[in-house]
Amino acid sequence: MHNTVPMREQTLKTPIEFSGVGLHTGQAAMMRILPAPAGKGIVFRRLDLDNFELQADVGSVERVAYATTLMSRGVWISTVEHLLSALYALGVDNAIIELDNFEVPILDGSALPYTEAIRQTGIVQLQAPRSYIRIEKPLVLEENNKSIAIYPADSLSLEYEIGFPHPLIGHQKLEVKITPENYSTLIAPARTFGFYHEVEALQAAGLVRGGSLENAIVLTETGMLNETSLRYPDEFVRHKILDLLGDFALMGQQVLGRLTANRAGHALHTRFVATLLSSATHWSSVTLTPAEAL
Ligand SMILES: [Zn+2]
Repeated sequence: MHNTVPMREQTLKTPIEFSGVGLHTGQAAMMRILPAPAGKGIVFRRLDLDNFELQADVGSVERVAYATTLMSRGVWISTVEHLLSALYALGVDNAIIELDNFEVPILDGSALPYTEAIRQTGIVQLQAPRSYIRIEKPLVLEENNKSIAIYPADSLSLEYEIGFPHPLIGHQKLEVKITPENYSTLIAPARTFGFYHEVEALQAAGLVRGGSLENAIVLTETGMLNETSLRYPDEFVRHKILDLLGDFALMGQQVLGRLTANRAGHALHTRFVATLLSSATHWSSVTLTPAEAL
């Protein structure tokens, strides 16, 4: 039987290591993800700032323009969403992420390198029972033409819908049940994308300084600059699911519910998480019996 919703908290079997430049700063960083005990959650540790620790929760969200940045007492961790997405999808509840700079390496612009490394090292169950947030009644957040909503369900699934007037994008919509297997094959490989005509303005604003064709799909008016092909015809909506899951990881707990988003972005994603956490009549905190977990 395929156990998709574990009963107990989990962590990594062994540490894993990455290095690379940050998408926005262009600065090199070394990162190590270490196993952690139950109850620790996901914690960033700045090795260059006396091991300052910063919890990956929605209370730490500082900036949400083009990436999700966490801050606590003046210490930043930037562009956390792809890494948090992979950890959450693969069911890693507890980990310490050591970083010697303030931006997480962008790698190839997707969550595939993280996903492969985590699955390769493996995941272990801890003693503590895992508590879930189970959605009891729908919550809808709308803003202009954008919306996010969550509905009761027995497992976590994400649906995203986007529309961009671009020949490679147009209207795209996809729903995925989040299991380690589905995430690895359907979502993790989808890369970040951006528009070439925005690059100059973004760089002037201190953004995308590490951006390149090696770590992003760069769209022109009619196509893309990358010479390789798309990883999926609808890679764009898949990356939106990847990003939404990374922001949703700031819930700090696994969720049983069906999450849907329409034309949203990091700002609405993180506002939705804060709204949901404070709307306690919409959910209950539960642990699972063996029958429910199978
Ligand atoms: Zn992204």
